[in-house]
Amino acid sequence: MDIEQFRKAGYQAIDRICDYYYSLQNRDVVPRVEPGYLREHIPLQPPEEGEDFQVIADDYHKFILPGLTHWQHPSFFAYFPTASTFEGMLGDLYASSIPNPGFNWLSSPACTELENIVMDWSADLLGLSSAFHNASGIGGGVLQTTASDSALVAVVAARSKYQRAHPTAKMEDLVIYTTSQTHSLGAKAGLILGLQVRSLDVKLEDELALRGEVLRTALEEDVGRGRRPFILIVTVGTTSTGAVDNMPEIREVAKDYPDLWIHVDAAWAGMALSCPETRDKLYLEEINAFADSFCTNFHKWGLVNFDCSTLWVRERRNLTEALDITPVFLRTKQGDAGTVIDYRNWHLALGRRFRSLKLWFVLRSYGVQGFQKYIRRCIDLNQHFVKLIQSSSDLALATSPSLALSVFRVVPKPRSPSPSQPPSPPSFDSLNDLNRIFYGRLSARHDIMLTQTSLNGMFCVRLAVGAAATTEEHIEGAFRIVESEANAAIETWDQ
Ligand code: PLP
Repeated sequence: MDIEQFRKAGYQAIDRICDYYYSLQNRDVVPRVEPGYLREHIPLQPPEEGEDFQVIADDYHKFILPGLTHWQHPSFFAYFPTASTFEGMLGDLYASSIPNPGFNWLSSPACTELENIVMDWSADLLGLSSAFHNASGIGGGVLQTTASDSALVAVVAARSKYQRAHPTAKMEDLVIYTTSQTHSLGAKAGLILGLQVRSLDVKLEDELALRGEVLRTALEEDVGRGRRPFILIVTVGTTSTGAVDNMPEIREVAKDYPDLWIHVDAAWAGMALSCPETRDKLYLEEINAFADSFCTNFHKWGLVNFDCSTLWVRERRNLTEALDITPVFLRTKQGDAGTVIDYRNWHLALGRRFRSLKLWFVLRSYGVQGFQKYIRRCIDLNQHFVKLIQSSSDLALATSPSLALSVFRVVPKPRSPSPSQPPSPPSFDSLNDLNRIFYGRLSARHDIMLTQTSLNGMFCVRLAVGAAATTEEHIEGAFRIVESEANAAIETWDQ
């Protein structure tokens, strides 16, 4: 493809993307394809000779689009959103047009310099203390691929810091602390690094948040057994319910364990820190006071197209001391002089995408107020859903709603088996069976998507608002579907 052919194909691609967005509302959310469907449509070997790009572009529409789950669909309520924007898309397009691996300052100075500035903008937007800003020269922010990478980087940095302070510590004694509600990123970091992970129990009556006493007991127990606690992954906004670990209580415990690195995973909820009214609830003061690292994903609820995970650390040297390996061919005058950041030493890989461009495009286009308006709108839409659930006689919230997330289940009014017998409430197991039937019905649909979860054995359904196109109408439509599938499930349920 030459430049003029690219111009033509590029215009067509943008046209087709616009048509796709116009058509989104009328599409299914969940595709009607079976596993392996694509093998029936495209050859299983690459072509011997190059093909005409028009044929390739047409095949995208014929075979790939029908197999997509549409995360930007207004009735996509599953997992957490990946709210994207055209500004973000264009940022990715420009970034792809200048593919460079941006691993150090010299490899493309603008990439490092923009990331440096935009990470400070983002820290400002979220109310993070100046200690985390790149401008501080001590702390700083870096873009990572995902929150899982961010957590892994934090664990590597924490381990290295701990080992420097305790050179005789044995690796097998080091422990990562998580809770039963922490994203699997904690267990995965342990798996990758060959470290023990202790998952602490959290209770439904505590809204599934980690409490100080639970942490203290576990730490005391482990230290008594010769183990070495070196990092706690605190979650601000858990995946299942949006629970927020009790940071004030954790802070009190952490005072007695100065070697314990505190990593805050706020992959989804962190975006709500942009709105001052949510900051107390999300413990911003404590994050600023004692977190060693903090991660949130602009690619979830932050209007930036996947991927764009932001990680801040209080002391950048903990990253570089853990991750800096500099062979001669990577040395530069600026790096040697220490006058620049070489981001290759702040993450796992060497090369890195130019992600700050799309973040910059989005933050400039929306401004702080536009960003806040979007977050508040999602929270309001969720509140609307909450009210509808509360008005229903057979549906109930399983936990308090969190920001733009609701977790609910079918809890039918007790019914009498016969006119002469008083109504009896269903057992825990029986209610779980009912809710599995309910979710089975919901997940067999193509016009909406929600996800399931289990809270200490209680089967529930989650609804997360976030797609830019979702309106009250879609929320009401979602509620009508939920209500009718709940009724249908109750009908077939053998209590
Ligand atoms: N942390 C939390 C609280 C999440 O909810 C999720 C995903 O939903 C993740 C981490 C994982 O994010 P990523 O895919 O960026 O690793």
